[in-house]
Amino acid sequence: MPSKPRILRIAINTPLRRLFDYLPPGGCRPEQMIPGQRLRVPFGKSKEKIGLLVEIVSDSEIEPHKLKYAIEVLDSKPIFDQHHLRFLKWASDYYQHPSGEVMLGTLPKLLSNGSLALKKYIRYWKLKSGKVNKPDDVFVNAPLKTAILKLIRSNPDGVSEETIRKNFKNWRAPLYSLSELGWVESFSHEVSDDRRLAQHGDTIQLNAEQKNAVATIISAGNSYQAFLLNGITGSGKTEVYLHSIRERINQGLQALVLLPEIALTPQFIEHFKSRLNIKTGLLHSGLTDRERLETWIGARDGDINIVIGTRSAIWTPFKQLGIIIVDEEHDLSYKQQEGFRYSARDLALYRAHQNNIPIVLGSATPSLESIQNVVNKRYQEIKLTKRTGNAFLPKINVLDIRSCTMDGALSKPLLKIIRQHLDKKQQVLLFLNRRGYAPVMMCHNCGWIAKCPRCNIQMTYHKHINKLCCHHCQHQEKMIKNCPECSNQKIIEIGHGTQRLTETLENNFPDAKIMRIDRDSTRRKGAIQSMLENAEKGNIDILIGTQMLAKGHHFPKVTLASIIDADQGLYSADFRAGERMAQIIMQVSGRAGRADDPGTVIIQTHHPDHPLLKTLARHDYEELSKLILDERKQTMLPPFSYQVLLRAEANQQHKINHFLHDARNLLPDTNTQLQIFGPITAPIEKRAGHYRMQLLLQMHNRKQLRNILGPWIISLENLPSGRKVRWSLDIDPQDML
Ligand code: ADP
Ligand code: ZN
Ligand code: ZN
Repeated sequence: MPSKPRILRIAINTPLRRLFDYLPPGGCRPEQMIPGQRLRVPFGKSKEKIGLLVEIVSDSEIEPHKLKYAIEVLDSKPIFDQHHLRFLKWASDYYQHPSGEVMLGTLPKLLSNGSLALKKYIRYWKLKSGKVNKPDDVFVNAPLKTAILKLIRSNPDGVSEETIRKNFKNWRAPLYSLSELGWVESFSHEVSDDRRLAQHGDTIQLNAEQKNAVATIISAGNSYQAFLLNGITGSGKTEVYLHSIRERINQGLQALVLLPEIALTPQFIEHFKSRLNIKTGLLHSGLTDRERLETWIGARDGDINIVIGTRSAIWTPFKQLGIIIVDEEHDLSYKQQEGFRYSARDLALYRAHQNNIPIVLGSATPSLESIQNVVNKRYQEIKLTKRTGNAFLPKINVLDIRSCTMDGALSKPLLKIIRQHLDKKQQVLLFLNRRGYAPVMMCHNCGWIAKCPRCNIQMTYHKHINKLCCHHCQHQEKMIKNCPECSNQKIIEIGHGTQRLTETLENNFPDAKIMRIDRDSTRRKGAIQSMLENAEKGNIDILIGTQMLAKGHHFPKVTLASIIDADQGLYSADFRAGERMAQIIMQVSGRAGRADDPGTVIIQTHHPDHPLLKTLARHDYEELSKLILDERKQTMLPPFSYQVLLRAEANQQHKINHFLHDARNLLPDTNTQLQIFGPITAPIEKRAGHYRMQLLLQMHNRKQLRNILGPWIISLENLPSGRKVRWSLDIDPQDML
């Protein structure tokens, strides 16, 4: 007779790809436990960890007398439903990532570290009934108390303690005194259960294309359907999102909106907040742990109608999710590039499928993967072809700079055009995807190049701090005066970063107000918002920026946009470089122009006849994607095949070599469909003192590839040579660096 299930299989945040077996804590009956509860368990020698119960089974591979008891159960109920647990399991399985790191690592920190039990936590304050109509100034000598009371009074649904804490220093004593005096009372959840309907109050009339888009999306009803909302910049995709979401929210459902970057899109958020009078949760990197947790719980319990967030918002549990939007779906930031390398966009598709709901992937420059999914009918394409209002697309000019006189990174013809726009008091936007002053510093006498001692890659010169910085490992050192090889003093700058470009412009246009937007200039919290605001108001004449500037933000006063160095993307070892460059050029072009002046785009290049640029100049992203897709098909690259990258690094090269060869030998050699490339050295050979190599697997059938992967990884974990290196897997890698 099979024994009763009494063994708890628990996920623990460790790099080990397995669950851990425990016995229930003393006094706790296994039949009372439900997967999704957290427990405190003994782990290793005299350590404790927080675990998540995944299943309860009858048998363990561990001998009964060796099984340990869990210490305590932290939650009286599971922290999320079984649906969400299945999603996490699937994610861990698909990415072949340790389930503990997936299940606990993606939780809000205050939950994953066990620092609080859920039920006690969120405390709200509201006015006691009967106190509503009393005047405000009852505490003449206690302004703080009065202010807190005022805040609570102005929020009839209650104010979270967190909000009070944020608004007032030394809030605790006056608040508790108010409570003792019988003015306010606390409760652990929001009382009101009336579902507030998303309001109309529209000022904008949707055009025919937009209306059709919304109708199509909503007609999916409660069934899975992926839509590719392919709309040129300025075609009003945001309105389509808003209206579709509103329909779903009015049906009592919730919405998840993913954005590449929240700091850069204040307009987008404001739009949502002001137009939909509903509870919105924002999730981004600037939040405190508590704020993050509040949104997580609010969404889970259905108190928040819509969650807007970056990549990691995909891990939010929902009570009743009704629609998912992924804006700028082609954006690279949806893929986490270290540790757990998941793609939030791809996970969003799984979640929509799991929930039987529509998902909208929006972009002006869709990823080739998505375009191919339209071709093979997995996605339904909805096109928005017109810019709203009377705006036209700017004209794109390819500027041949071969044999042009250059001033720094700028050709004479471009400088002339910039001057014309400035003379007319118009804004200019210059795009250069390289921060710092100069990417290479070289000795003019002997050719020595300043390289990072830990990465063996050239360091970028940052002039204002007079330092050499490695953009791969953050290593910095003081700029040298003499060449370490020949002691010559002439160290020259090669190439141009945004800082050097700024200098060139300052020299040419001493009266112009110039602003540089890149990761260095926007480090301070809130800096980016105020800079963008400033630019929008027209206080700036020339905007210089990296990728950050190309994303999502529209500058109506910009009439000239220029891509300073298009050649970077044309010839690269990365097969996706062309696609990326095309997307960036289209995005930058979309930043310019307004109703009465569509604006001009200038692309500086040494390769004016490159088919990619010629197609782009016609704004023909569709034709361009066909070109690239044809190429990919011939070479069997994604999306016509699926890839898995095994990366390894170690302090000595031979260790990695050894491991990757072992790994290769463990792959089935009878499968002719499986292509194996490597082991080869990674494009960035060394990072932070570690050598790096990789092995690439490629196959046109995803399912078969996954079938091979499972057993392979188990054997990799048992490889002795694997213990001497750090290795990781990247499923559907987006870069090969
Ligand atoms: P996209 O995201 O497609 O690039 P946006 O959604 O940012 O475009 O819309 C561009 C501008 O057009 C916004 O200022 C928006 O308010 C406006 N807009 C959107 N739809 C309409 C419409 N139907 N009529 C007039 N203006 C609109
Ligand atoms: Zn030298
Ligand atoms: Zn380095």
